[in-house]
Amino acid sequence: MLNPEYYMRRALKLGALQSGRTAENPAVGCVIVKDGKIVGEGATQDGGRPHAETVALQVAGTQARGADAYVTLEPCSHYGQTAPCANDLIDAGINRCFIAVVDPDPRVNWRGAALLQEAGVDVQVGLCGDEAATAHAAFFDRVRKS
Ligand SMILES: [Zn+2]
Repeated sequence: MLNPEYYMRRALKLGALQSGRTAENPAVGCVIVKDGKIVGEGATQDGGRPHAETVALQVAGTQARGADAYVTLEPCSHYGQTAPCANDLIDAGINRCFIAVVDPDPRVNWRGAALLQEAGVDVQVGLCGDEAATAHAAFFDRVRKS
């Protein structure tokens, strides 16, 4: 079994491949791991939708049940043009969610993590946090200025 950093770095790499293509949304990466095996992965798609979690969960299908999710940015918790990813992760039966960095967007800002936790998901924040903050720096700047 590989260590958690391996999967988060992979999620960061997936997000980086979409960098510059997802405005106004951040280029997030998501990897879903079950019993040490990657069963789903994805990144925010061109134009910002669907979100990384949605893509990865679609690939994983029923294998997401009881799996770990690695997300480079806190899953969203608000209804925008897509349903909240936090709810998607819960509905899919994710057991544990590693979040690299919290989303400073005032509509999210720990709410995604709280939603997951309230649903009984084991939430771990900060894995590869510095790398994720660097990866999402442009998005963070935009959120903080708006
Ligand atoms: Zn989302």
